[in-house]
Amino acid sequence: MTISESDLLAKVPDRLFIGGKWVPSTSGRSIEVHDPSTGLVIKTIADASPEDGIRAVDAAAAVQQSWAATAPRVRGEILRGAFDLLQERADEFALLMTLEMGKPLAEARGEVTYGGEFLRWFGEEAVRISGRYGVNPEGTGRMIVTHLPVGPSFLITPWNFPLAMATRKIAPALAAGCTAIVKPAELTPLTTLYFARLLEEAGLPAGVLNVITTSTSGDVSAPIIADKRLRKLSFTGSTPVGRKLLTQASENVLRTSMELGGNAPFLVFDDADLDGAVDGAMLAKFRNIGQACTAANRFIVHESVADEFTARITARVNELTIGRGTDDGVAIGPLINDGAVDKADALVRDAIDRGATLVTGGSRIDGPGSFYQPTVLSGIVAGSDILREEIFGPVVTIVPFTDEADAVALANDTEYGLVSYVFTRDLARGQRLVETLQTGMMGLNVGVVSNAAAPFGGVKQSGIGREGGSEGIHEYLETKYVLTPDPFLAG
Ligand code: NAD
Repeated sequence: MTISESDLLAKVPDRLFIGGKWVPSTSGRSIEVHDPSTGLVIKTIADASPEDGIRAVDAAAAVQQSWAATAPRVRGEILRGAFDLLQERADEFALLMTLEMGKPLAEARGEVTYGGEFLRWFGEEAVRISGRYGVNPEGTGRMIVTHLPVGPSFLITPWNFPLAMATRKIAPALAAGCTAIVKPAELTPLTTLYFARLLEEAGLPAGVLNVITTSTSGDVSAPIIADKRLRKLSFTGSTPVGRKLLTQASENVLRTSMELGGNAPFLVFDDADLDGAVDGAMLAKFRNIGQACTAANRFIVHESVADEFTARITARVNELTIGRGTDDGVAIGPLINDGAVDKADALVRDAIDRGATLVTGGSRIDGPGSFYQPTVLSGIVAGSDILREEIFGPVVTIVPFTDEADAVALANDTEYGLVSYVFTRDLARGQRLVETLQTGMMGLNVGVVSNAAAPFGGVKQSGIGREGGSEGIHEYLETKYVLTPDPFLAG
């Protein structure tokens, strides 16, 4: 690491990015961004007003036609150039994410790799937007199906993966030929601002991507969503906010993609490789300090191996080093703020009050920063809040099951349906669970599924649409059908 924290923070823009210019907010207000490991302010940036939001729509709408007409290869090359620049600055982006979000540096580096892959993948996909041509069934005409950019898109991202959640939307939107307005979370806006500067350097024309940072998300977003020039809303965040935005988007009949909350079940059968299951569990639970939509929320473990699984995972949890994400060897950084600590603690208390056993951890950590002990709870009683709500913290909850039908019933007993994890050596059982578990994704004997080349997304209240894979670009493309007469009859 060559750059100091203060030098890096000084390089991050503190203004809004609209129409290719870094401009102050018309509100005159500012947002203080904190380091969750110290609680200290690390940077102050512009706080956009609703008027700024509309200026961003103006900018995106003004260049929509020219960006759509830009050769796909050129669009792809700009994304590829951004990928290369990101590799050169991987250490800077990793440090910036650790500073504003708190995750350990090694994980932040992993996010640079993961987030960067969307730039490379969709840079490649830009030149593979194909259609169909064929004879109609009656034999009287020719049918053409082609795909065109949806149009100006509004992209709203959460705080937990500041780079990857942005590139997972920006890359397919730009590859498809859509212009965009990005609104990062007010808790972690710096990575998106720094990334917009990188895109500028990669040669992205002015106005194609605009960034607005605001502390009044609802007030600034509503007029954008209602603007008739906007054609698409892509949101990643919590289910309650997603529902609200779907209602707003319906008024303007917008195309929507919704990547919402999760409550992932992690099933361990009696025939599982227990060491593999514990390795997978550590990743599925403690990556991002438990603050992932894909985090394993409920460990559903066969009663014959539940004690052994609990003992093994507890031994691993007790070895985790807690601290500031920049320190060597740290595996557990802070939660995003004190509110997140309060929420995790309330869920733990409720579970214990209802009869769960606290095996290890279970307390907030005093001192500066928003830290919570890695925790294991076993014997969670049905009806506990912790089985229903996203924990978003480093807490393992273990629930025993008796047979496969019982495990499936427990796993599906949630309004969410993002991802499930299954550990079993029985291939037929694994195949049955692909069909019986109600989730958009499944890890079969693995604890992490995310990949730029795969369609990421959920069913039920976890969302609508898919990001990544060959599916991802179609979230930003309309389908147009054209019929022409039989050319042999046309004279
Ligand atoms: P959040 O819903 O509070 O906020 C998400 C974004 O929406 C932020 O940018 C926020 O400023 C903005 N927002 C909030 N209210 C708004 C409003 N009224 N109008 C417009 N924008 C508004 O979620 P969060 O706390 O930032 O992120 C955590 C949540 O995100 C969890 O529920 C997690 O599961 C989910 N998540 C889902 C995925 C996925 O791919 N499914 C990925 C990451 C996080």
